[in-house]
Amino acid sequence: KNYQVVVEENRRLYNEVQELKGNIRVYCRIRPFLKGQNKKETSIEYTGENGELVVANPLKQGKDTHRFFKFNKVFGPSSTQEEVFLDTQPLIRSLLDGYNVCIFAYGQTGSGKTYTMSGPSINSEEHWGVNYRALNDLFHLTQSSQDTVMYEVGVQMVEIYNEQLIFLNLHTLGIWNTALPNGLAVPDASMHCVRSTDDVLELMNIGLMNRAVGATALNEKSSRSHSVLSVHVRGVDVKTDSELRGSLHLVDLAGSERIDRSEVTGDRLKEAQHINKSLSALGDVIFALAHKNPHVPYRNSKLTQVLQNSLGGQAKTLMFVQINPDEDSYAETVSTLKFAERVSGVELGAARSYK
Ligand code: ADP
Repeated sequence: KNYQVVVEENRRLYNEVQELKGNIRVYCRIRPFLKGQNKKETSIEYTGENGELVVANPLKQGKDTHRFFKFNKVFGPSSTQEEVFLDTQPLIRSLLDGYNVCIFAYGQTGSGKTYTMSGPSINSEEHWGVNYRALNDLFHLTQSSQDTVMYEVGVQMVEIYNEQLIFLNLHTLGIWNTALPNGLAVPDASMHCVRSTDDVLELMNIGLMNRAVGATALNEKSSRSHSVLSVHVRGVDVKTDSELRGSLHLVDLAGSERIDRSEVTGDRLKEAQHINKSLSALGDVIFALAHKNPHVPYRNSKLTQVLQNSLGGQAKTLMFVQINPDEDSYAETVSTLKFAERVSGVELGAARSYK
């Protein structure tokens, strides 16, 4: 099929609104079909090198048979962890220039958020996700500049479940802290000084254990909580003594799937409402920043409160939007992609999709 006319037109429009976006980038990643899964039809019709994506409605009826999206980049199903990291690395490195950086993974449960952020297993270095690679890279950089700048690196793990904060690597297990943090000033006890990737791996293992022990059954609820890994860096110039601080937040968001209200009640409904509320609050904040709105509504969720100091201003934001390839996921896929295009400040809309 020839998409080129639409692609060209959208590229022009996209370039016009690029200016708006400032420090907000959106990468889309398409999960491959999994081994052992019956290979179904895919709803992904076209991916272009310039971040173009066309998805096809499986019903193939009406005027919206295809939808066109454009992001900073689209990673296809065969993309590797290394390729994804290569395009993320410069952003992470700007942490050492004193920027605050937030990286989010957004998408329905099973779309590969954890795969992108952490990888399938902590032990498989080849498949490490963005977070271990980022820390590895940071340690290499900080160690190689030891003669000019002395760096300190601190790490925290926080889960947000039902609008409550849980600090995972506290020495005392299962402390539930409901007090509001003031920006980055979360309890010192939850901050750990780290000197190597091994330190971080060890800490993360403790964190994961705490998660299973301290907060019973949180493990199985992981798709319903946001998990935030924060890396704080302080650098002191050896000669001038001047100080520089930056923070990196790596956020594996709760699953964005919509819940049929008629089918769930009680705890499940409450969870769904909290997730819904916090994901829209996040969308609203990034939207306001992308559009340079004078008012940014940080107060509407714990997630945006925790990240307030690291979103906007001297901050850079990257959103990975994760999608499933199969056509059964079409409705969720479109809803995910629409969220992403809204926050990125680039809404091309159905009117300009391929007909
Ligand atoms: P989510 O965090 O969005 O719920 P996961 O990251 O757990 O999704 O991914 C669901 C399954 O798909 C896991 O078994 C994961 O290992 C696998 N998976 C996800 N993305 C990829 C990928 N790019 N390549 C190979 N397997 C993947």
